[in-house]
Amino acid sequence: MGKKDYYEILGVSRDASQAEIKKAYRRLALKYHPDRNKSKEAEEKFKEISEAYAVLSDPEKRRLYDMYGHAGIDERYSQEDIFRSARFEDIFADLGFGSIDRIFDIFFGGGAARRAPARGADLRFDMEITLEEAAKGAEKVVSYRRLETCERCGGSGAEPGSGRITCPACGGRGSVGFTQRTPFGTYSTFTTCTRCGGEGSVVSNPCRECGGAGRVEKVRRLSVKIPPGVDSGARLRLAGEGEAGERGAPPGDLYIVIHVREHETFKRVGNDLYIEVPITFSQAALGAEIEVPTIDGDSATVKIPSGTQTGETFRLRGRGMPLLNGYGRGDMVVKVVVRTPTKLSKEERELFERLAELEKAREKGIFQRIAEEVRGAFR
Ligand SMILES: [Zn+2]
Ligand SMILES: [Zn+2]
Repeated sequence: MGKKDYYEILGVSRDASQAEIKKAYRRLALKYHPDRNKSKEAEEKFKEISEAYAVLSDPEKRRLYDMYGHAGIDERYSQEDIFRSARFEDIFADLGFGSIDRIFDIFFGGGAARRAPARGADLRFDMEITLEEAAKGAEKVVSYRRLETCERCGGSGAEPGSGRITCPACGGRGSVGFTQRTPFGTYSTFTTCTRCGGEGSVVSNPCRECGGAGRVEKVRRLSVKIPPGVDSGARLRLAGEGEAGERGAPPGDLYIVIHVREHETFKRVGNDLYIEVPITFSQAALGAEIEVPTIDGDSATVKIPSGTQTGETFRLRGRGMPLLNGYGRGDMVVKVVVRTPTKLSKEERELFERLAELEKAREKGIFQRIAEEVRGAFR
């Protein structure tokens, strides 16, 4: 189905003057502007009359439309180009409708035309903690630089008592158009306005404190709770503790990235802690109860049975790292290593020599028995 005729939409004749076109559009805008008329049809109607007005109020576009109809416009301009080059602000201003942002929202579903004040940036803080702190949890103070909302202007960037004005460089559109005439026709291209950064408005009198930026760099000190059980790579999010947003836009978040330092005694694997403990020959041979340190700062008792070999492990349930969810703990795994003595007292030396004789005798006994069995087999 073809589009309706622009003159018909506005209810004006084909030779209507600019003043008549403007008057007709004002009358219809009052009736269909979405701030006044909430029905879905009104919104569609409002878009339709605004498009007709955007074309007919621009002499170049009107000429193209008169000569080639809708095809003359649609082949050359995008919807956005049609709206952006039109002057709606003065009409809406006298009708008492919302800002120009509202109008672009209606035409393009928001965001397409002008850049909204940006949310504050997220920040990252790398924090090193000890394994003990990771086990117990901790409260740490962090100090970092960030952009905060300027107190003098409340973030507006305008000196108190002054305000924002429509950007004089782009007339509030947020973009600047360049029209190029070529042998193939006239083309319009748009780029973001450098004066207002695409926002469509600028401050008339910049704030003395922040120079119009609305934000100033400050040092923030913050107490952070480290939950028990954290491991390296964990990210703690502190909502709203990042940089302030531009003019009332929401702030960013602060992410604390945890690095747990290597421990001299304990090696962490997931929620379990591994520890190596030296034992003596006699403890390994006879069995013993040994005391081992724990991450909680106290000690635990491990029962070593007689005949323990070097490298054997013993698991102490629930003495490892706490689980991050707060329920339960991992284990502590104790690996025993039999230490060979390097310095012997006279008495120890005598005992080892006695032991060696006994071992030799026993080995001889075993050897003789095997030899007899072998002889017996050949008899
Ligand atoms: Zn300021
Ligand atoms: Zn501008």
